Amino acid sequence: MTAQPHRITVIPGDGVGPEVVRSAQRIIAAAGVAVDWEEAEAGAEVFKRGDTSGVPRETRASIERTRVVLKGPLETPVGFGEKSANVTLRKLFETYANVRPARELPGVPTRYAGEGVDMIIVRENIEDLYAGIEHMQTPDVAQCLKVITRKGSEKIIRYAFELARREGRAKVTCATKANIMKLTEGLFKRTFEQLSVEYPEITAEHLIIDNVAHQMAKNPVQFDVVVTTNLNGDIISDLASGLVGGLGFAPSGNYGDGVAIFEAVHGSAPKYAGKDVINPTALILSSLMMLRHIGETAAAAAIEDAVLVTLEEGKAVTQDLARQTGGDVEHAASTTGFSDSIIANLGRRPATVPSRADATPPASPATRRPSWAYGPEVSAAVERRTIGADIFLESWAAPGEAGPALAALAGDVLLLQMVDSRGTMVFPDTGLNPDAVGVLRARFVAREDGVAVSDADIAGLLGRVGERFAWTHVEKLHVFAGEPSYTKAQGQ
Ligand code: NAP
Repeated sequence: MTAQPHRITVIPGDGVGPEVVRSAQRIIAAAGVAVDWEEAEAGAEVFKRGDTSGVPRETRASIERTRVVLKGPLETPVGFGEKSANVTLRKLFETYANVRPARELPGVPTRYAGEGVDMIIVRENIEDLYAGIEHMQTPDVAQCLKVITRKGSEKIIRYAFELARREGRAKVTCATKANIMKLTEGLFKRTFEQLSVEYPEITAEHLIIDNVAHQMAKNPVQFDVVVTTNLNGDIISDLASGLVGGLGFAPSGNYGDGVAIFEAVHGSAPKYAGKDVINPTALILSSLMMLRHIGETAAAAAIEDAVLVTLEEGKAVTQDLARQTGGDVEHAASTTGFSDSIIANLGRRPATVPSRADATPPASPATRRPSWAYGPEVSAAVERRTIGADIFLESWAAPGEAGPALAALAGDVLLLQMVDSRGTMVFPDTGLNPDAVGVLRARFVAREDGVAVSDADIAGLLGRVGERFAWTHVEKLHVFAGEPSYTKAQGQ
């Protein structure tokens, strides 16, 4: 009996996308995996037709049916207006885990060749600054909200530990900037520390993200699985790709609870579009992650071995690699020729590196349910009090003028605790004199310790402040379970 074909949504994408995607599809077919591809559109052409999401309804419907996507790169309109279709896809299907392996490949020269670099970067894919919540507070002051949640952190950190456990990896490194962003990055770090005790067989370490970059450049083999927040992960996963040969060799999988999307890390490389010269390895390696995800582990191993043989023998070398190795760029292999070589090498095993047929179990999404350290019941049980508010103002007034004027508006319940400019206290005077930028923050707190401030108190305050100053936004100050929900200003 013939096995039922897998149904997979394929998005060829923009630029070189269709070339690298076709290459992977041909290789998958040659390895004997039956796939019923549902071809779908997203990206540049869709934007041009006026769909501002870049992901049409039919494409969403196909993904809801198949739950698995192989996708080429999508061009992002630069500037204002449209959001990236890539980010839209990740958000629509809540693919919260961006997994980017970086493993040394034979025949691909790097500064670290022979050292055995083999790490997986697990990047949170939904929140952080990539929530894309930005505002111009004034015509000259922009802000972006960095949103880190306990739920989002727990999901990705548990994913990383489960991945390490399944693949028999020894260490998970959590990379944050918790020393500076104590509440946002700090929440991620604390969640990591809480969850790590559930995985006693795995070494759990925390490193500050800038040191991770430094250590990766210095001694990359020390890393095994690295879990981190969205922006950190974006940057260090590209760094990790650079350690093992660059964008032409960097695969990725975006995993959610229901949907997984597989794509190369690189973009649409428009200058190479339609020329049949681009290196398809990254997309082929991404398609291997996809095959493992759908249970086609034997075919994945066979294709991976064929890729390793092709790179190791170096008979078919794409332009980018020829450039790196000082080879014959003019007579380099085309995308099609390179893919033909991989197909011809199916069934062979690499000579200089271990065969992937003997590799450890498949990398499919975490199956363990979250431990529910977050959620409405847990949150509702936390003892809380509102103790004041931060009011942000559009104002070029000198601190010595703005401070007393704001203090006079505080009323009976609240008092002005301080005024700052970009996080540095300027009133009361600390001797610090930061450059004025046209926005001040005034922090008002309850006059009496332990007294709760009501919404009416804050509304009344806003009314009074609004008569003298143009306020831009307000943040309530809470105490949750005895802990302040806000950070102090520099100098406070
Ligand atoms: P890019 O398309 O990744 O290309 C930058 C450079 O990387 C290329 O010029 C080329 O370098 C090298 N490169 C990329 N893919 C390669 C491959 N398969 N083999 C060998 N070398 C490769 O980045 P970009 O030019 O910044 O972005 C172009 C468009 O893609 C933008 O619209 C961007 O928004 C989009 N993008 C999409 C995704 C995605 O869909 N996931 C990701 C990133 C960017 P040389 O010039 O040195 O040959």
